[in-house]
Amino acid sequence: MQIRCYRCGWSIPISNDEIRFALEALRESGGKHHNVRCPRCRHTSKVSLKQLEKVAPRPQEEQSEEEE
Ligand SMILES: [Zn+2]
Repeated sequence: MQIRCYRCGWSIPISNDEIRFALEALRESGGKHHNVRCPRCRHTSKVSLKQLEKVAPRPQEEQSEEEE
């Protein structure tokens, strides 16, 4: 995913690994936001937990296959 730095408008790429790592850290700490540092202006942008959950890759996509 990419988030837009609202200070300078730069698109900051966030890898799937980072998303998963951030989600785990937030769930452990009970936080609601993940801080992302803009590489251009060094402003810290917040990504909400909900937003992370929305884009997070699912480790196991369970498909209920009907077999009979
Ligand atoms: Zn920026």
